[in-house]
Amino acid sequence: MAEGSSRLKTPPVRMESQSDEYEYDEYEDFDAYYDEGQDEMEPEDEREPDPECYEYSVFSVDEAKAYLAKEVQTAADALKVPCYAAKALLMSHQWNLDAIQSRTKQDIANLLVECGVLPSADSSLTKEPAIPSNYVCPVCIENQSKEQLRSLLCGHFFCKDCWSQHVVVLVNEGSSTGICCMAEKCLMRAPEDFVIPLLQSEHHKLRYNDFYFKESIKNHSSLRFCPGADCTIVVYAAEVKSKRVECTQCKTSWCFNCCNNYHAPADCDIIKKWLTKCADDSETANYISAHTKDCPVCNICIEKNGGCNHMQCSKCLHNFCWMCLGDWKTHGSEYYECSRYKENPNIASESANVKAREALKKYLFYFERWDNHAKSLRLEKETLRKSQERIQEKVENKMGTWIDWQYLLAAASLLAKCRYTLQYTYPFAYYLEPSPRKKLFEYQQAQLEAEIENLSWKVERAASYDRGDLENQMSVAEKRRQTMLKDFFPA
Ligand SMILES: [Zn+2]
Ligand SMILES: [Zn+2]
Ligand SMILES: [Zn+2]
Ligand SMILES: [Zn+2]
Ligand SMILES: [Zn+2]
Ligand SMILES: [Zn+2]
Repeated sequence: MAEGSSRLKTPPVRMESQSDEYEYDEYEDFDAYYDEGQDEMEPEDEREPDPECYEYSVFSVDEAKAYLAKEVQTAADALKVPCYAAKALLMSHQWNLDAIQSRTKQDIANLLVECGVLPSADSSLTKEPAIPSNYVCPVCIENQSKEQLRSLLCGHFFCKDCWSQHVVVLVNEGSSTGICCMAEKCLMRAPEDFVIPLLQSEHHKLRYNDFYFKESIKNHSSLRFCPGADCTIVVYAAEVKSKRVECTQCKTSWCFNCCNNYHAPADCDIIKKWLTKCADDSETANYISAHTKDCPVCNICIEKNGGCNHMQCSKCLHNFCWMCLGDWKTHGSEYYECSRYKENPNIASESANVKAREALKKYLFYFERWDNHAKSLRLEKETLRKSQERIQEKVENKMGTWIDWQYLLAAASLLAKCRYTLQYTYPFAYYLEPSPRKKLFEYQQAQLEAEIENLSWKVERAASYDRGDLENQMSVAEKRRQTMLKDFFPA
């Protein structure tokens, strides 16, 4: 369903409001708007499609090789050329057969010349050049017998040993599809069937095949290697989009378009800019990575060892926010202030020095939150591990079965998913220009943040909350996440 009756109305954003000051009644408008949307219980099949839904297939190396071989055969049949020529054409067109066919409607010969398969448009794929007799190899300058001579369709003959040396050097350097004829200015490329017999050692053959395969995947518009460390999985998606792909082998969750870690609601350009900025400014950012803070009431030093940012002082029992040190009780209503950076409204008229300081302050504000959520994700992984142990214990003591306790693990994994999205809202917000759209985004971010911290609090104390309460919190948090992605992450 693209546009239907259940689509939320246009958000109540006052377009004329250009002031940098945020007014609370605007948020009340947002509240009313979203509550209305949530009260309508929509039937399952009338809901909007999941904004993160993406169709893709996961291939092992062998499956990917078989897939490529099938595409080569299809192209060879369609273009009526041998497989090696079809492969060369595919390699220079991102494996897009339609693109090749639209270029070869009149004549394929010129395209074959361009791809280094034919020496000239009037030569033929089937006419092998005649082997000369009494021939001196131009590389080793030795008289060579006919049996020793090899050439591509260009007819530039060299002896087998000279070819072998040439090819081995290039394979050692990592070449595969780019191996060319040795004659000066000749652009003919050596196909696999020509190269492999020239490679004597098994080591070089494996290396060449490996490079050839990798080169093919890198060239292919619909295939990507999983970016996970040492992972060999290849993923296929018919439509290239900035959507989440999850590797079945190493569990890495990445963006099919840019291969960075999955980054919704930020887009590929934003995340690239952000990661570059973080790498460049890592020195500056290091000093804020504090592991301890002081309780704002009794000043006792507090270490954060869980993922939840709702802290409770062990001495005076004061509840506060780890990020902004604000009182947690009033934090709900003032949460907007915790995740939102207040820009200096008069910055344009300030000196260069003040501007630079302000820019750094703004970056550190977003970086601190980005970094803090990354840390929380790691700490919550630990919570998950502990709850697995606790469940194991309960099951062993005959207190229910694994299935009875499954919801605890589901809550922990949903928490990870929500916090992950929350982490990526910070680079997104950092690059958003002040606008009504940004206000709406910050509103949603604050709501999501509040629900996630509630969920985290309950997951860490799952024993004292009943199952219904926890599951309700899960559904509220996930709904917030989905709403944000629907409104801000392009389909
Ligand atoms: Zn030679
Ligand atoms: Zn040549
Ligand atoms: Zn992987
Ligand atoms: Zn991306
Ligand atoms: Zn305290
Ligand atoms: Zn806070």
